[in-house]
Amino acid sequence: MSIEIVTVACRSDNYAFLVRAGERTALVDAPEAEPIVAALSERGWSLDEVWITHHHADHVEGLAGLRSAHPGLSVTGARRDAHRLPKLDREVGDGDAFQFQGHAVNVMDASGHTVGHVAFHVPDAAAVFTADSLMALGCGRLFEGTPEMMWTTLSALTSLPDDTVVYSGHEYTAANARFALTIEPDNEALKRRAADIEAARAEGRYTVPSTLSEERATNPFLRASLRQVKEGLDMKGADDVTVFAEIRARKDAF
Ligand code: ZN
Ligand code: FE
Repeated sequence: MSIEIVTVACRSDNYAFLVRAGERTALVDAPEAEPIVAALSERGWSLDEVWITHHHADHVEGLAGLRSAHPGLSVTGARRDAHRLPKLDREVGDGDAFQFQGHAVNVMDASGHTVGHVAFHVPDAAAVFTADSLMALGCGRLFEGTPEMMWTTLSALTSLPDDTVVYSGHEYTAANARFALTIEPDNEALKRRAADIEAARAEGRYTVPSTLSEERATNPFLRASLRQVKEGLDMKGADDVTVFAEIRARKDAF
């Protein structure tokens, strides 16, 4: 049974994703109800499940409206964040797996942006839903977690297969590209990708999802452990987390 994934643009720069298998549809994050309801009705799909990545309003605020339109909705989210998430029907944590229409959905802790953020990996679709952890050419700002936490999260996500498609939560990629070029001005793959991103945005195309292989080649936050990146930052000999923290701090000030 194949899996179809539909990207739904919400609010000013959020993305939500419909995951369709057989006759059931899941939604990853609920930034706002209206565009999601429209995407569903356009396809004649009902909504059965919502998988929430983290507690921020721009990822959960649409849930109330979706619940009233789809009273049978089952909501999945992080057990450790249950106290600050909308009411959960299924609580999950790092290393848990649940089934969606016979497909495994693996839950990965993705703390850093918040503590309790999770990612959902669907191996049968070669898809990982990362929201505000690993993002296209970036990573989420560290509102709650430490650099070490986010580095651990990014390291776990990059250990997924190379062809994994990364469905992240925001259209921040053009700004991320401008920043990435300040870290690795001579990275040819990054220069090409930055040009592609600019062209895509000029035409109003989405830059999400991306692939893990392109993130590995171009995302400065994943590349903090590389000799050439450390040397470029004058941090030869510094440990990976320290270099990651420096890149994150520069991005915050960019
Ligand atoms: Zn967030
Ligand atoms: Fe967000």
